[in-house]
Amino acid sequence: MLQFISMAQAFGEIEKHASRQSLPTVLVPLEEAVGRVLAEPAVATLSIPPFDNSARDGVVLSASGLSAATRGSPVSLAGELRAGDSLEVANGIEGDAVRIMTGAPVPLWAESIVMIEDLTLNADGTATINRLPESGAWIRPKGSDIAEMSVILKPGRQIIPEHVQALASSGVVEAVINVKPRVGICSTGEELVDVKLGPPGSGQIYDSNRPFMTAMMRSFGCDVVVNEHVGDTLDEMVGFLNRVMETSLDLVVSSGAVSMGSYDFVKPALEAVGADIVFHKVTQKPGKPLLFAILPNGTLYFGLPGNPVSTVVNCRFYVHYALSVMQHEPLETPIRFRLENDIEKPQGLAVFLKARCIRGEGGALVRALEGQESFQTMPLLEMNGWIVLSEHVGSMQAGELVNFYPSNPRGLSDIF
Ligand code: AMP
Ligand code: MG
Repeated sequence: MLQFISMAQAFGEIEKHASRQSLPTVLVPLEEAVGRVLAEPAVATLSIPPFDNSARDGVVLSASGLSAATRGSPVSLAGELRAGDSLEVANGIEGDAVRIMTGAPVPLWAESIVMIEDLTLNADGTATINRLPESGAWIRPKGSDIAEMSVILKPGRQIIPEHVQALASSGVVEAVINVKPRVGICSTGEELVDVKLGPPGSGQIYDSNRPFMTAMMRSFGCDVVVNEHVGDTLDEMVGFLNRVMETSLDLVVSSGAVSMGSYDFVKPALEAVGADIVFHKVTQKPGKPLLFAILPNGTLYFGLPGNPVSTVVNCRFYVHYALSVMQHEPLETPIRFRLENDIEKPQGLAVFLKARCIRGEGGALVRALEGQESFQTMPLLEMNGWIVLSEHVGSMQAGELVNFYPSNPRGLSDIF
């Protein structure tokens, strides 16, 4: 078991173990794939556009029509092409020029298209070209957007409605996605009262980690299969571990009972059931007593310290990282922003600071908020992300560039 490891080492250990896990996949209709992670490449069954077509309402000119227009002569219109007309109809029309609508197929003989704003339609069935088109103007060539049989979306991408637009147009009607990761969560602590059963009695507090973890795991696209609270005894913790092992989960997260207190039973319980404890304690603030283990059946286990902000940070960064690795998602990279205020920080300890990115006149700035202690939840309502500073840096001054991660990790998933 590793102890007091660095943030980077912790991510490295998680990657090593999470990359050995794989999730089952399922084929679903495209609309149902939104929010899920693509498991197999999506391949275009059609070129986009599927045929040369017109980008404007106007007139399509042949080579002879174009030379007539260049001489300043009106061109006679041999017919009309609308969206939905076949290529055979388009190629069957002969002449100098044809009236054409947006999306209509362009005849093989077409030189260029003149948009309606650049011509005059005359009463005698001719058109006067007021502005000469460049060669190929307003013709959308076949395959210029998407090429048939090309991989248009790679595995690991979380599907968003914009993807559905491009996939559907190229004939992809179904997608192979990862089945939702099956997770278990539990909070520990005799002092806790279920939010649905309050109010807390003397010496008690509401259990906020459990609703948080439920919400966060769902926002990560997981299915929360086991959701419990256990008391501060070794027996109860062992009972919980045995239950999750029977349920065959991908990942389990508990909060509390991983520090140095007399009632911190997570580690002894993991040892009692024969789990492999990979590491305990990361040189970071908040959330230092983070524990990562592998249960005997292969399930990943995260023991998060119970302070509310420690639970948020460790879930947001380490648990999310494990889920990303398991689903082959592109790994998150930070946005670099300039600091608005000074930050005091000891060297040798990584910090996660509740922060707010503000769009100012001179560009975006990021501010570390007041109230950084791990029990202080009020700033969670104001923040929109985290400033993350590694062990290697010391205090920072206003104006310096820092790494910023949005509260919602998916917010950055497409910037890499
Ligand atoms: P622990 O990690 O169990 O030592 O708990 C650290 C601090 O977090 C203590 O003040 C606990 O009361 C608090 N805490 C632990 N679990 C929760 C929870 N589920 N909801 C709210 N606070 C908690
Ligand atoms: Mg506790």
